[in-house]
Amino acid sequence: MQAKENAISKLIQQLEKLPGIGQKTAQRLAFYIINMKNEDVKALAEAILSAKNSTKLCKICCNFTEGDICHICSDDKRDRSIICVVEEPQDVVALEKVKEYKGLYHVLHGAISPLKGKYPEQLTIDVLLKRLADTNVKEVIIATNPDVDGEATASYLARLIKPIGIKVTRIARGIPVGGDIEYADEVTILKAIEGRKEI
Ligand code: ZN
Repeated sequence: MQAKENAISKLIQQLEKLPGIGQKTAQRLAFYIINMKNEDVKALAEAILSAKNSTKLCKICCNFTEGDICHICSDDKRDRSIICVVEEPQDVVALEKVKEYKGLYHVLHGAISPLKGKYPEQLTIDVLLKRLADTNVKEVIIATNPDVDGEATASYLARLIKPIGIKVTRIARGIPVGGDIEYADEVTILKAIEGRKEI
């Protein structure tokens, strides 16, 4: 019995590490999993491992992908003269729901935040700059979140990119300040892109 209790508390501890999962939810999920059929638990565990093991970063835009190059970067129909810079892969998913955007992306994997120990060299900024030096990009749209870290990252990027002679724009403030692009609805995102201003 002791061993079983330990196994459950281990599972609860692991679940609690996930974003948005508090202790109560972790307990509820753990007990739910224990009551699931063996084959379903196995399928869940395998899906987690398989997603983790088969996912890498696109060599061009740093978005998650299973091959070397993601499906957006390898799509001939995309406009290669515009790159939209976002913080996280889930922001690409949100922006892709807005069918009007036809450019490419660049995923930073975070925002500059000295308070949270996140510095420019920990983001994919070097990959972005190399990309801009090699290609015929005319505009970089900075779509980092409209919070302190997102704004600091936008100014930092603008200072680096503008001297290269590429137009840098910032999405409009349709997205609530402090809000996440990931959770914004399609109309709000579309208006934010359409209303972008040069910085
Ligand atoms: Zn890509």
